[in-house]
Amino acid sequence: MNDCIFCKIINGEIPSYKVYEDDDVFAFMDISPVSAGHVLVIPKKHAQDIFEIDDESHGKVQKVVKKLAHKIVDKLGAKGVNIINNNKAEAGQTVFHYHVHIIPRYDENDKLELKFNPDSAVVIEEVFEKIK
Ligand code: AMP
Ligand code: ZN
Repeated sequence: MNDCIFCKIINGEIPSYKVYEDDDVFAFMDISPVSAGHVLVIPKKHAQDIFEIDDESHGKVQKVVKKLAHKIVDKLGAKGVNIINNNKAEAGQTVFHYHVHIIPRYDENDKLELKFNPDSAVVIEEVFEKIK
């Protein structure tokens, strides 16, 4: 896509710290890392989000995510990783080319805060019936 910054990174129009590339997948360092080794993995074929990406492209991205998660732990000494994928602005997506964040975790005081605040108003049975 013409005005997509991640397509421009794939094409080399915008510089990046490339950590992985094959025919279908590209991975590079996030420009604003929340921890050392924060990487983004993207399909070369432009798709906006999880709702648009085709199964084949999605599968190829996930394979690279797994490979790089292992590498990050092995080479950087991370104790764990968060794998995050935001879809749509309401979910925090700011770049509309599908991407998976691999965020290494070194200890619980890292800069990433993931807090699940349970909503007691949710009736599980009501939604369960719709999505099962
Ligand atoms: P999201 O909020 O899930 O859409 O994440 C978009 C991510 O892209 C953010 O973590 C940004 O720091 C990152 N980002 C934006 N522009 C660039 C760039 N030119 N190079 C590397 N990472 C970028
Ligand atoms: Zn794109």
